[in-house]
Amino acid sequence: MILPSHLSVGDGHLRIGEHDTVDLARQFGTPLYVTDEGRIRENFRRLAGALTAHYKKVRILYAAKANGNLAIFRTLASMGAGADVFSAGEVALALAAGMRPESLLFNGSSKTPADLALAVEKGIRVSVDSPDELRQLDAAAGKAGKTVDIAFRVNPAIDVPTHPKIATGLATSKFGIPAGEILDAYREALAAEHVNPVGVHCHIGSQILAVEPFAREVEVLIGVARDLLDIGVDLKFIDIGGGLGIPYRREIDRAPTPEEYAGAVMPVFLKGIRDLGIEPELWVEPGRWLVADSTVLLTRVNSVKTAHATFANVDAGFNLLVRPTMYDSYHEIVAADRADAPAVREYSVTGPICETGDILAKGRMLPDLSAGNLIAVLDAGAYGFAMSSQYNSRPRCAEVLLAGEKAALMRRAETIEDLTAPMVTPPWQE
Ligand SMILES: *Cc1c(COP(=O)(O)O)cnc(C)c1O
Repeated sequence: MILPSHLSVGDGHLRIGEHDTVDLARQFGTPLYVTDEGRIRENFRRLAGALTAHYKKVRILYAAKANGNLAIFRTLASMGAGADVFSAGEVALALAAGMRPESLLFNGSSKTPADLALAVEKGIRVSVDSPDELRQLDAAAGKAGKTVDIAFRVNPAIDVPTHPKIATGLATSKFGIPAGEILDAYREALAAEHVNPVGVHCHIGSQILAVEPFAREVEVLIGVARDLLDIGVDLKFIDIGGGLGIPYRREIDRAPTPEEYAGAVMPVFLKGIRDLGIEPELWVEPGRWLVADSTVLLTRVNSVKTAHATFANVDAGFNLLVRPTMYDSYHEIVAADRADAPAVREYSVTGPICETGDILAKGRMLPDLSAGNLIAVLDAGAYGFAMSSQYNSRPRCAEVLLAGEKAALMRRAETIEDLTAPMVTPPWQE
C-alpha cells in the first residue's frame, strides 16, 4: 500500500510520525483517534504555498466542521488560518484558538436569530444565504447600532463528480442564491442601512477529485464580480470555498495536487480580476485537504467470525466513523500490529453497533487476524470524530495529538457518566 510520508512500517508495526501505533493503543486504549500535528502543518504550508505562488492576497479559512478539536484549531490558527464557521460552537472554538473575528466567515443556509446577533456582536463577516436572512441580519445589526460586512453565497449550478450528499453547488442544492438572482440580492444589500456587501462566496461540494469544476466555479464568480462592479459593489474578497479531495483509495484514486488545483483556478481568477481592474483577496475554505490524512483511527479486534464472509469485529463502528455508512466511503485498512505480514484473507471490518450497515470496510485482503489484533483506519481526520455520536450509548473515544516525539490527549475518552450527566429526571419519575 502507498503510505503518505508521515506513515511508515517499522518492526511489523504501523507508525505515525515518530510513534508506533501499537504503543499508542497500549498507552491510551482503543478505540483511539491519533492525529499527527506535523502533517497538518505540512498540508497547510503546501496548499498555501501553491496558491500564493500565483497571487499574494490569499486567505485560508479552515472549514471548521471537518475536525472540531480545539487543538486542531490552535494548530491552524498558529499557521495563520482563519475559519469557515457554521455555528455558535464553531465561532467559540475559532475565537478560543486565537483566530480573529475578521478572519472568520459565518456560513450556513439556516442561521438562527442568535447566530446573526452573535456575528453582529463579534464583528464576524456573514455569508448570507437568502434575501430573508439579509433582512434579518440588517435588522439585527441596526438594533446593535453596528454595520456588518457580508457576502452572498452564490449557487453556480455546477454539477461535480462526488457523492450526491456532498455536492453543494447543484442547481437543486439547498445552498446559496441562484446566479441569475444574485444581483437583486446585492442591490437590496447596497440599499440596506446596516449591511455592507464586500464579498462573494461559493462552495461547490466536497471530495472533488477533478480541477475543472473549480475553474468553472471561478469563471461564474468572475462573471458575478463583473456585474457587481457595474452596480457599485466594492469587492474586497472572492471566496471560492473548499472541496479539494484526497486519494482515499491510495492505489487507484488520482487526486489533484494543490499545485494542479492552483494551476487550474488561479489563471482564471487572475485573468478575471485583471480584466476587471480589481484586486480583491482570494479566500479558500479547505477542510478535508488540511486534516483528513493527518489522522488514523485505531481499533482493536474483538472477535473474528467466518460465515458467508469473514468478519473482523472491531471496537469502533459508525458511532465513531460514519463516513463508510453515510457516504459509502472507502478508507484504507492496515493491520497495525501485523503491518508487514502477507495479506491472505478477505475480511469485512465491522463495528459494535447493532445495525447491519455498521461496516467500516468490506472485502479487504488482510493478514490473518484474531482477537486482540490492532486495525488502523487511515485518512480519518476529516468528518471522522467530528461526525461521531453516542449511538448505542457508547461514550466517544479519546483523541491523541502527536508533535514529533510528543504524544498527548487532545480529548479524553468519554465515560458512562458523560452519557448520563445531561439527562434530567422528569418530576413525575422521581
Ligand atoms: C464543508 C465546507 C467546506 C469544506 O469542504 P472540504 O471538502 O472539507 O474542503 C468549505 N466551505 C463550506 C461552505 C463548507 O460547507
